Amino acid sequence: MTKKIPMRTCIACRTEKPKYELMRVVKNPEGEIVLDFSGKLNGRGAYVCKDAACVKKLGQKKLLNKAFSAPVGDEVYRRIEEEFLGG
Ligand SMILES: [Zn+2]
Repeated sequence: MTKKIPMRTCIACRTEKPKYELMRVVKNPEGEIVLDFSGKLNGRGAYVCKDAACVKKLGQKKLLNKAFSAPVGDEVYRRIEEEFLGG
């Protein structure tokens, strides 16, 4: 029996990877955008590689605005970058 691995696409580099190799970024019901290290938070999610280059690209290209169809402030991108680099 082979178990099917769920695949997700990184919104920065558009590469499809197994879900567990990506980080989830979630817009929670309070409208906050947070890194979901557990993969279990409620809300609309987007996926990005666990890679500093992809995380930086989020901010450079404002990719979360597109992913969540909403304006995302620079401070949110900065916080995500810091959380990623620090976590
Ligand atoms: Zn990527």
